Amino acid sequence: MKGDTMTPSETAQQINIVMFGAPGAGKGTHAELLAKRFGLFHLSTGDLLRAEVKAGTDLGKRIQDTIIRGELVDDDTVVELVNQKLANEKRGIIFDGFPRTVQQASLLDTILQWTGGELSCVLSIDVPEEELIRRMNERARLLHRSDDTIETFCHRLEEYHAKTEPVVEYYRQYGLFVSVSGMGAISETNERLIESVEKMVFFSSPDDQ
Ligand code: AMP
Repeated sequence: MKGDTMTPSETAQQINIVMFGAPGAGKGTHAELLAKRFGLFHLSTGDLLRAEVKAGTDLGKRIQDTIIRGELVDDDTVVELVNQKLANEKRGIIFDGFPRTVQQASLLDTILQWTGGELSCVLSIDVPEEELIRRMNERARLLHRSDDTIETFCHRLEEYHAKTEPVVEYYRQYGLFVSVSGMGAISETNERLIESVEKMVFFSSPDDQ
């Protein structure tokens, strides 16, 4: 099966994953790869929010400065977007960049209860801060994303430490949190992540939690 996409019948149960990590850790890249591998819907709140800004909607106009400053958009706005996006989705989901606050994590529990799903695991991609800064400089040079200046990046990192890191404890208490090194080649991290998902989803019984 290595490298192939699994169909829902092969996975037998619905997989729902949260990708966790600091800005620049590689959440987007790895969420995309895992979505293909396990047949999941990739939901990136950053992409959803940027699409609103690009389309010039009222919501986009309201949040664009917040994104450029590297601050978090308010919980209600983000959760409303996630809700809309999941309304008709039948596949398992890989959440990329969500939840980013304890309040969002608690609201995600409620959303999953409504849809009858549950979280399979929270995968944290660990990358040391010096490497994050190196990657961000590289990205700013290549992509020219308006929230990829080094100044904005530092602010995003502060927001991450202050508001997103507390989410780790939230998930640790449920035994859902798994940490994986994000150093080395993308393919190596991808292998580690696949192994972790398989362990959590296919080989764990409720007694292991
Ligand atoms: P990302 O592409 O995930 O790095 O997100 C880019 C920016 O979008 C962040 O710096 C925030 O301003 C905003 N954003 C994305 N996801 C969230 C979220 N779950 N909660 C609040 N703001 C978010």
